[in-house]
Amino acid sequence: MTEVKDAVQAYQQFIGGEWVDSASGQTLDVLNPATDNVVARVPASDTEDVDRAVRAAEKAFATWQHTTPQDRSLLLLKLADALDARADELGRLESLHTGKPVNLAIDEMAVSSDLFRFFAGAARVMEGKAANEYLAGHTSLIRREPVGVVASIAPWNYPLYMAAWKLGPALATGNTVVLKPSARTPLTALAFASTLGDIFPPGVVNVLSGTGAAIGDALVGHPSVRMISVTGDTETGKRIARIAADRVKRLHLELGGKAPVIVFDDADIEAAAETIKFAGYWNSGQDCTAACRVIAGPKVYDKFVSALSDQVRSIKWGNPTEVDDLDMGSLIAGAQADKVEGMVDRAREGAEVVVGGVRPKGPGAYYEPTVIAGPDQRSEIVQDEVFGPVVTVQRFSDEAQAIAWANDVRFGLASSVFTNDIGRAMRVAKAIQFGTVWINEHFTLVSEMPHGGFKESGYGKDGSMYALEDYTVVKHVMLKI
Ligand code: NAD
Repeated sequence: MTEVKDAVQAYQQFIGGEWVDSASGQTLDVLNPATDNVVARVPASDTEDVDRAVRAAEKAFATWQHTTPQDRSLLLLKLADALDARADELGRLESLHTGKPVNLAIDEMAVSSDLFRFFAGAARVMEGKAANEYLAGHTSLIRREPVGVVASIAPWNYPLYMAAWKLGPALATGNTVVLKPSARTPLTALAFASTLGDIFPPGVVNVLSGTGAAIGDALVGHPSVRMISVTGDTETGKRIARIAADRVKRLHLELGGKAPVIVFDDADIEAAAETIKFAGYWNSGQDCTAACRVIAGPKVYDKFVSALSDQVRSIKWGNPTEVDDLDMGSLIAGAQADKVEGMVDRAREGAEVVVGGVRPKGPGAYYEPTVIAGPDQRSEIVQDEVFGPVVTVQRFSDEAQAIAWANDVRFGLASSVFTNDIGRAMRVAKAIQFGTVWINEHFTLVSEMPHGGFKESGYGKDGSMYALEDYTVVKHVMLKI
């Protein structure tokens, strides 16, 4: 599968159970953003590769769709065990092209294998409406059938975990997959393809390694792709939706986020600040659910800014290739660090940078963990995704304003409320328009519960039985008796 050349590994794509270069013979460099070094070369997939992969998936679908839930469940359980056995190797590889601390990248593998185990079980217990004579003399029953070939398009922030979100429900329900990881982080998906190939029949899972610009439109628009599941930027989701509309394809869109954290005056401020240290800066804040905009009560605002600042100063960050046991590594790329630097610099007018606000000189894509106090609700830093280690804190005047500010963004993915008043917690949980609301918590996901957005954060749910429903089509069969 791979050959070592000048310490830079050369990878191949996985199509129809075979390892292949791109049809054009072109390659892409993969960088370690913690050092700026090239660590691997992968095929620069082109439209011919897309066609081959989709055709392989289509061919495999002809038989794979007829496997029983038990067959698929057993294979997914095997996949989970195989991932656990490779957790150390794949976690290190994940760290190599994301710049994450190695121990945290290794921990992500267990979350992904848990998803495979959940979907292995869930595949066997899907429920629906009872068969019955809803019209006299006619029996109606519901079938849930796989959609067909699914294009699964994943981002760079949790490369293999996001791929697992897509592979689990798609395979459990009898679909076949063409997986396209981000061209910045294709290595773990390509390496894991050897395990997928050992367990599933040829063509059931295919992995391409091209850029969205080169193959995105061809993959999304391919007539044999029946569903597109994408996790990525909202603008990417809109572009994909426009192309998919032409053939009325099913879409599953997990897009951007801008999570509010409402901290009421009666909350445990120290606990809230400690939670945000974790939930706002995990993965260098490059998380769609990152706790990135705190809206704090009028009486506790100053105390909270001070408590959060203390927490953020204690974040241990640096180069994961040199230091073990870090809280935070690099960002994904120099371009991302540039973006964060630009947004923080523009926020300085009208707000105070209390901690951080510095981009260390290279090599490596680093940005100091940063706290910004007092930005305006309409400012760019409050309205747009920073996707970096930056948390803003605003002071609200009353509950109505806290709710209005929380909702006043185009996104609606995740949110949290910190209070000791259960009535207020439930009132606010109802009033804010986000796919997840945590109470006195932020960030924790479980395989049994749905993750997905409102508004421009997209639609479709990952995890949970709802994901299985998304990856199936309902068919009504009526029999005259
Ligand atoms: P991105 O949109 O740049 O890329 C995501 C994927 O889409 C990549 O594989 C990319 O190659 C592909 N892509 C790009 N253009 C395409 C096109 N025209 N056609 C088909 N595919 C195309 O996003 P990113 O920078 O990799 O990830 C960060 C974004 O992802 C953030 O906005 C973040 O909020 C979002 N995200 C959302 C969730 C969620 O659960 N909602 C989870 C993780 C990340």
